[in-house]
Amino acid sequence: MYDRYNRRINYLRISITDRCNLRCKYCMPESGITLLKHEDILSFEEIADFARIAVDKGIEKVRITGGEPLVRKGAVGLIKMLSEIKGLNDITLTTNGILLEEYAKPLAEAGLNRVNVSLDTCDADKFAELTRGGDIQKVIRGIVAAQEAGLTPIKINCVVNNSSKESDALSVKEFCKTMDLEVRFIHQMNLETGHFAIVEGGTGGNCSVCNKLRLSSDGLLRPCLFNDVAFNIRQLGSEKAIDMALQAKPECGTVSYKNTFNTIGG
Ligand code: SAM
Repeated sequence: MYDRYNRRINYLRISITDRCNLRCKYCMPESGITLLKHEDILSFEEIADFARIAVDKGIEKVRITGGEPLVRKGAVGLIKMLSEIKGLNDITLTTNGILLEEYAKPLAEAGLNRVNVSLDTCDADKFAELTRGGDIQKVIRGIVAAQEAGLTPIKINCVVNNSSKESDALSVKEFCKTMDLEVRFIHQMNLETGHFAIVEGGTGGNCSVCNKLRLSSDGLLRPCLFNDVAFNIRQLGSEKAIDMALQAKPECGTVSYKNTFNTIGG
């Protein structure tokens, strides 16, 4: 399917929860977050039904994100449901890696193709500080488990303050070289000021080639991260929501006051 600017839209990101087991300083406040009510969160059946219709219309790749997708109970079952959709060639997941050691093998067996793991520094103390309490050893064991499970190529998402030459980024780059991982440097973004940049090592942040739609865990389909327009799939129905999101996809992102990384998943 094509949008008004002739971009082929074939990639759907699905955030399955707004909950997270870390509190990365650039992503979530330490406390005081209003979480979605359980009844507002799409069931896995609703997500799979939506994905089926989206694939019929031209989606070829789905990425599961969050919040932290692996904190939602039954995430493996959702992957299994998605893997049964004909025409869905690529199912991936973005995770902070904390629970990956436990879930890598079942996820691979359920049909997950690959994972992206977020890692912004290789210094254990800095990691704990940045994530407000995260244990980097769990992430490293998760990455190894993902390699053993064949969830490859594994991409590491590394958020940088100013440059991919800063020391934490260089440590992550070196780690990736040693572990045979791909690395993508994401410049820290600000949705409310409209500050975004092209992802180094990826295609994100480049509006002219944007091929994505995003579904939030409460059923809002968003054509652009840096834009507040959203279509409720429960109210409109999946097909109509997709058509409307396609029509409304802006040529370029500007600002968003309603999206947050912890709900929409980046
Ligand atoms: N919990 C999972 C994780 O940590 O990968 C998935 C959700 S997380 C919101 C998805 C990605 O968004 C992560 O790679 C994270 O680093 C990135 N992210 C969060 N806040 C960001 C910001 N302000 N600027 C750029 N990237 C951000």
